[in-house]
Amino acid sequence: MLAIGFERMRQNAARLQIKFVESNRHRAELAENNLALSQEIRRREAIEADLQRQREALDKSNSELRIAAAAFNSQEGMIVTDTKGVVLSANRAFVGLTGYTIEELVGQTPRLFRSHRRDGEFYRSMWGSVQATGGWQGDMSLRTRSGENCARWLTISAVKNEAGEVTNYIGSYYDISKLKHAEEKIQELAFFDQLTGLPNRVLLIDRVRQAVNANIRSKSYGALLFIDLDNFKTLNDSLGHHMGDMLLKCAAQRLSHCVRADDTVARFGGDEFVVLLVNLGTQKAKAAALQAEAIGEKILAAFTEVFQFDAYEYPCTASVGVTLFSTDECNVDELLKRADLAMYDAKTAGRNGLRFFDPAMQTMITARAALETDLREDLKKERLLLHYQPQVDHEGRLLGAEALARWPHAHKGMISPSEFIPVAESTGLILPLGALMLKTACRQLARWSSDPATERLTIAINVSALQMRQKNFVEEVRAIIEQTGANPHRLKIELTESTLVSNVDDVIAKMGKLKAIGIGFSLDDFGTGYSALSYLKRLPLDQLKIDRSFVKDVLVDSNDAAIAQMIIALSRSLGLSVIAEGVETEEQYAFLARHGQLSYQGYLFGLPMPAEDFVSLARAFSPRHGLKRVRGSVNRASA
Ligand code: C2E
Ligand code: CA
Ligand code: CA
Repeated sequence: MLAIGFERMRQNAARLQIKFVESNRHRAELAENNLALSQEIRRREAIEADLQRQREALDKSNSELRIAAAAFNSQEGMIVTDTKGVVLSANRAFVGLTGYTIEELVGQTPRLFRSHRRDGEFYRSMWGSVQATGGWQGDMSLRTRSGENCARWLTISAVKNEAGEVTNYIGSYYDISKLKHAEEKIQELAFFDQLTGLPNRVLLIDRVRQAVNANIRSKSYGALLFIDLDNFKTLNDSLGHHMGDMLLKCAAQRLSHCVRADDTVARFGGDEFVVLLVNLGTQKAKAAALQAEAIGEKILAAFTEVFQFDAYEYPCTASVGVTLFSTDECNVDELLKRADLAMYDAKTAGRNGLRFFDPAMQTMITARAALETDLREDLKKERLLLHYQPQVDHEGRLLGAEALARWPHAHKGMISPSEFIPVAESTGLILPLGALMLKTACRQLARWSSDPATERLTIAINVSALQMRQKNFVEEVRAIIEQTGANPHRLKIELTESTLVSNVDDVIAKMGKLKAIGIGFSLDDFGTGYSALSYLKRLPLDQLKIDRSFVKDVLVDSNDAAIAQMIIALSRSLGLSVIAEGVETEEQYAFLARHGQLSYQGYLFGLPMPAEDFVSLARAFSPRHGLKRVRGSVNRASA
C-alpha cells in the first residue's frame, strides 16, 4: 500500500515536472512573441510618424508654394532673375505696369526698364549689399515701354538652395507714387505760399543762404530786393479781402515776369515780396548794382500799370529796397534787414521808387538817374551833336569821317559818349539818340555835297544793336535820307558784333535793304566780340574795322599783331576793305601798312573835331590846294 502511494506520488511529481518544463517553455515562447510584437508596433509607429511628418511637410510646402504664388501675383510688380540678373519671370502686375510683354521681358536685364541713369559706383554698392546681406532696397523708378517714369521702391532678395548658394534674385517694385505725392504736398505746404504759389519766407531764407554760400565760392555778386506794395492796405480794407487776394496774385505774376529763370520771387508775408537775384557777375559791385537796379526799375514799371478787376481800375505802385551781397560775411537776417531798411527809405522818399542800402551805390544810382533825366531833356531839345574824326586811305588821302556823338551838358561840360551811351542803351534813349545822330550826319552830308572840298567825303555813323532791332529801322533811315537830301552812297553804318548775337537773319535782311539804296556797312570793334566766321560770310559788309585795342599794342604784343594780320588776311579773302582805328603813332601806321592796303583812323591823322574844323581841314588838304595827305598831329588841339 505504501509502495503504491509512493509510486503515484512520483508519477505525479514527474507529471508536474513535465508541466513545469512545458509551462516554462511556453512562457519563453510567449515572451519571445511579445517582444516581436512590440518591435513591430514600434516600427509601424515610426513609419506612421514618418509618414505624418512627410504629410505635414508636404502640406507646409504646399501652403508655402501657395503663399509664394499668391505673393508673386500680388499688386506689386515682381520679377525673378538668375544670378546674373537676367529676367526669368515677371508677374502680371509687373507686365501691366511696364507695358512689356512677358516674352519681351524674359532674357533681358533690368537695364531695359530702369529710369535713373546712375553711375557705376551706385550699382557696385547695390550688388555689394546684395552679396553681403542677401538683399538691398532703395528708390528705383521704372521706365515703362512708352517712356513714362513711375516712382517705385525696389527690394531685392536673394534666393538660396539647401547648400546656401544663391540661385535666384527676386525684385519687388513697391508703388510709392502716393507717398511721393504726399511728400510733395507737404513740401508745397511747408515751402510755398498757398495764395500766390510763390516760395514762402522759409524757402526764401534757405535759398538766400545757399546763394550767399555759392557766391562766397564763386566770388560773384547777388542782390536782395525787398518790395512793398504802396497802398495795398487801403485797398484791402476798403474793397475787402477777396479783392486784396486777387491783387496779391496779380502782383506775384507781375513780379515773376520781371526776373530771370535763376532768380527767386518769394512772398515774404502780407503785401511784402522779396526777390533774390543771383549771378550778377564777378567783376565790379558797380556793374552788379546796375543790373539789380535795372530789374528793380522793371519791377517799378510793372506796377505803374493799374490793376484791373471787373472793369474797375486799382492803382498800386511799389517801393523797392535793394542790397547787394558778395563774398563779405553777412548773415541772411542781416541782409533781409538791410533790404527792408532800404525799402523803408524808398517809401519815405515818396513811394514808387527804388533805394539802395549801400550809400555809395545809392550815390552812383542817383547820379545815373540824374544823367538819364538830363539826357532825356537834352535829346528833346536836340542839344547833342557830332564831332568828326578823319578817315584816310593808305596814302593818307582824306576819305571822310567817323561821326561821334558829343553831349555838351549845361553844367558838367562835355560828357563823353563812353559815359552816356551805356545809360542811353539801358534806358532805351539810344533810339531817339541814334535817330538824332543819324539826322545830324545826313544833314552834314547834304551840306558837304555842295562844296567841292567835301562833296566826295563819306560819314560813318555808329548804330547800336537796339536801333537795328527796331521793326521800322529801314523805313526810318530811308525817311531821314529823303528829308535831308543826303546821298546814301556817302553814308556808312558801323555795326558792332553785339548786333549779331540774336536774329542774324533779320539783321541781314535789313542790311540788304539799306545796301540796296547805297548805304555801306562796316563791322566796328572787330575781333573783340564772339565773331563767328560762319556768319561773317553771310553779312553784306563792306569793311572790317580793326579794334583800337589791337592797334594799341600791335608793336609790343605779338598776339595783337597776329590778330591784326589775321583780320587783314581775312578781309582780303572775303573781299572786304579794312580800316584800322586808334592809330596814334608812325610806327603803328608803318607796321599796319606793311601788311596790306588799309584805311586808317586815329590821333595820328586827326582827333574827332567839330564840323567847321573838319571842313577847314578838308579844304586845307583838298587836292585842289595841292596837299594830298592828312598826317601828323595836325588837329589834335581842336578836338
Ligand atoms: P567807337 O565807335 O569805337 O569810336 C571810336 C572811339 O575811339 C571814339 O571815342 C574816338 O574818340 C576814339 N579814338 C579815335 N582815335 C583814337 C586814338 O587814336 N586813340 C584813342 N585812344 N582813341 C581814339 P568816343 O568818341 O569817346 O566814343 C566812344 C564810343 O561811344 C564809340 O566807340 C562808340 O561805341 C560810342 N559812340 C559814339 N558816338 C555814338 C553814336 O552816335 N551812336 C552810338 N550808338 N554809339 C556812339
Ligand atoms: Ca565806331
Ligand atoms: Ca570802334
